[in-house]
Amino acid sequence: MNAIYLVQFGTIDEEIISPLEVCLWQVFGFDVKRLNPLPDPAFALDQKSGQWNSSLILKDLVRRVPDDAIRLLGITERDLFIPMLSFVFGHAQLNGPAAVISLARLRQEFYRLPPNAPVFHHRIMKEAVHELGHTFGLVHCHDPLCAMSLSNIIQHVDKKNGELCSNCSILFEEFTNHRRRNNGMEMQR
Ligand SMILES: [Zn+2]
Ligand SMILES: [Zn+2]
Repeated sequence: MNAIYLVQFGTIDEEIISPLEVCLWQVFGFDVKRLNPLPDPAFALDQKSGQWNSSLILKDLVRRVPDDAIRLLGITERDLFIPMLSFVFGHAQLNGPAAVISLARLRQEFYRLPPNAPVFHHRIMKEAVHELGHTFGLVHCHDPLCAMSLSNIIQHVDKKNGELCSNCSILFEEFTNHRRRNNGMEMQR
């Protein structure tokens, strides 16, 4: 049985990971498992910006995808960037095996506001669904409430739901059905 795997860089609060597992299972319908935590991704630190290069982290994650994984999602506290973009909440390859999300800009404290755990947790779920959605072939959605809508700023994240809109759900179903058909064909050979 294929599973979505989670892996944390450094230590991430269990209160974050456990509800995220349930959320991802509900949205995508795959079992959710974990890999042992990885050390801090020091290899991806860009001295100039003081941020972590998400492309390098993705490259590292791709090498770690377990055999029974359908996808691997990395979670880091580090602030991520992609060259050309000053920061990203997360990064994934379209149809790729791995994705990564950063918690750095999801806390209210980052915006000099009082802590708000429910808001923080909700944002994590939305970003995890968004980046994993890309790995399942979903592109940005025009529905601002859909988890697949593009978020350049935290207000966009807050506007959307942690779920896929009906269109994106259909595309995701098509993706998984296509996969099942292909697996079936492979087994017949
Ligand atoms: Zn996106
Ligand atoms: Zn959508």
